[in-house]
Amino acid sequence: MLNFTVGPVMSPEYVLDIGADQVPYFRTAEFSQVMFENEALIKEFAKAGEGSRAIFLTGSGSASMEAAVINTLTENDKALIINGGNFGERFTQICRIHHIPFAQITPEKGHGITEADLAPFEGQDFTAFLVNICETSTGVLYDMELISRFCKRNGLFLIADAVSAFLADPIDMEGLGIDVMTTASQKALACPPGISAVVMSARAVERVMSIECGCMYLDLKDALKNAERGQTPFTPAVGTLLQINARLRQIKETGGVDAENVRIASLCADFRSRLTDLPFRPFCNSPSNCVTALTPSSVSAYELFLKLKDEYGIWICPNGGELRDRVFRVGHIGALSTKDNEKLVSAFKDLKDKGFF
Ligand SMILES: *Cc1c(COP(=O)(O)O)cnc(C)c1O
Repeated sequence: MLNFTVGPVMSPEYVLDIGADQVPYFRTAEFSQVMFENEALIKEFAKAGEGSRAIFLTGSGSASMEAAVINTLTENDKALIINGGNFGERFTQICRIHHIPFAQITPEKGHGITEADLAPFEGQDFTAFLVNICETSTGVLYDMELISRFCKRNGLFLIADAVSAFLADPIDMEGLGIDVMTTASQKALACPPGISAVVMSARAVERVMSIECGCMYLDLKDALKNAERGQTPFTPAVGTLLQINARLRQIKETGGVDAENVRIASLCADFRSRLTDLPFRPFCNSPSNCVTALTPSSVSAYELFLKLKDEYGIWICPNGGELRDRVFRVGHIGALSTKDNEKLVSAFKDLKDKGFF
């Protein structure tokens, strides 16, 4: 199997090996030590700054998105949401369900946002800003410098879903003034699905402490309190947390988050440089390093996904809904190499030679 989807992605051998072991009991000093290290490393890699905290929830990335919103915003807030695809849409759904007032900016699919998109919302009564740093469904990387300046100018609390962007694109929580950042195990962390993380600035921790979130399982107050002793309120996905620990340590030992950003960016640039003779157009005008969204000119993107899966054993990432036939995506996260890029591009060229497109 060769997997170029955006999650679950392929895991390196040392992560797979841990998955083959028995899962240990976790109310122990040894497991607490692992969790202390997980918290410290994820904060370091997010550049979260003084007084920040991180907790790990057992749930997919959406659990951390919902936890972030319900633990830091209330009916008295008003959120501005960038909704440029499935994951932006998810933030609107979360706010709607939890009665948090919001307005949305809906850029054209595949497009980033500009100063002009934000201008009408300047100096209004918003209190918070919600964005998916990489809108994975279209591959767009939003201009976080622009968003950061807007939030600072307008005094907005900034929640950034970095589920796919974390480790793939440079993120500096403190520098950008990001208050809450979320990520998940099955994206660039390259572990099995099941764990998502919420990294909070000191200001966010204060907010969490002052809000009744109205949910037992996703209560971050409870999670923060337990994390003080390296524990979680409920049985976590213990095995996945051990795998995350091995992965975070490996990143630390090989140059830290900046080196990992560079590794993923190079893999991504290598793939994009190989596309010259193929009938694909980039779908997106400000792409993330985590994924390349492409539009084939003469075949259905979904048919291409099926063909590669069934005849070559290679998985690219299909799109759903209105983009199903127009867009497919190639991920650059997980245990992939330039050799793998070469295999995928050879398969594309083989299909071209056979007249598929
Ligand atoms: C993958 C992803 C999520 C989380 O999706 P789950 O299926 O709940 O893990 C959230 N936001 C973004 C931007 C993602 O790429």
